[in-house]
Amino acid sequence: MPKPIYLDYNATTPVVDEVLNEMLPYFKEHFGNPSSQGHSFGWKADLGVQKSKKQVAEVLGCTLKEIYFTSGATESNNWALLGLVSQLKKNSPSQPIHLLTSPVEHKSILGLLEPLKHQGVEIDLVPVNAHGIVEIETLKKFIRPETKIMSFMWVNNELGVINPILEIGQIAHEQKIYFHTDATQAVGKIKIDLKNTPIDLLTFSGHKIYGPKGVGALYVRGSSPHIEIEPLIWGGGQQGGQRAGTLNVTGIVGLGAACAWMEQNRESEQKRMAEFNYQLRQSLAHFPQIQINNPSEVSVPQTLSLTFKTISQDKLALRLSHLAMSATSACGSGSFETSHVLKSIGLSGDLARQTLRLSMGHFLQNEDLVKITDSLTSLYT
Ligand code: PMP
Repeated sequence: MPKPIYLDYNATTPVVDEVLNEMLPYFKEHFGNPSSQGHSFGWKADLGVQKSKKQVAEVLGCTLKEIYFTSGATESNNWALLGLVSQLKKNSPSQPIHLLTSPVEHKSILGLLEPLKHQGVEIDLVPVNAHGIVEIETLKKFIRPETKIMSFMWVNNELGVINPILEIGQIAHEQKIYFHTDATQAVGKIKIDLKNTPIDLLTFSGHKIYGPKGVGALYVRGSSPHIEIEPLIWGGGQQGGQRAGTLNVTGIVGLGAACAWMEQNRESEQKRMAEFNYQLRQSLAHFPQIQINNPSEVSVPQTLSLTFKTISQDKLALRLSHLAMSATSACGSGSFETSHVLKSIGLSGDLARQTLRLSMGHFLQNEDLVKITDSLTSLYT
């Protein structure tokens, strides 16, 4: 059996050496609790946390006070929406809350909608276009006087398509609507400058950017306007009382180092990925049976959503077992349910089941591309 080629970077990435090396001293040498401010063990750990915060702020273009560390994007998404709703209810208990999001969001947003409805929040899903993108004109039709919150992902994890986040944010701010974006698949790939971007809350995660799993962050805008959200996790006074729990220092150090690594390598990496993407598209273009669901002009170069017409899911799994790709999002694939994202862009159940997500990243080599292309096209030769 040939060595598998990893093509599932949107599901998770390996930790790069630069990140691991920064993390290692914090397991044993600098093991202190950053809240222990009475001795040097605590100070050393705290220095690691502060350094990480600077590295995160650099990538997001925001201030240190606007960053809170979490256990990952799922928690950040939960906190953003539940925390904002609680805050709005606290400020104006009788005011209705209408929330807009889209049907192609990650399950960590869509799974929140039922609990939010139970809290009396009215929710509309803004339909996406055939590529999976929110269109401004469609969005505008859904805005009502009670619309208080919008949450739209920056880059879709299954399709790699990019939403018009700046335009959405502008509309939100014009209409005094709070705007949250799940930027888990955008951070490190797209240049972000939150100081000059109308985003109030932003989610991302360490393990999609060559950092460790189980750590992420939520950005909460500090000024123009100042955003307040209620905590989701209550307890000790860590992180200003906003997110209780002893800080995951090694993870946080890794998250910061990953941000620094991504920032340093972003341009060269995006260029390399764009070249790989171009080559794959060129080779696959000779095979009309292989449908590419995400146009390159509106996608990050890492992701290709490929539908293999007339080839069953079982055959795909058998013939491409040496290519580590996802049938749908990793979180849903265990249950073999049809992807909600592919359904939303109009793919039939059969075509959705014949679709694989190919997501590329740092350790992919030029020579892998030939093997990938040969394997994919051999399905039809
Ligand atoms: N949002 C998006 C867009 C994602 O791709 C993921 C990871 N699949 C998440 C949220 C959840 O991230 P985490 O694993 O850090 O909870």
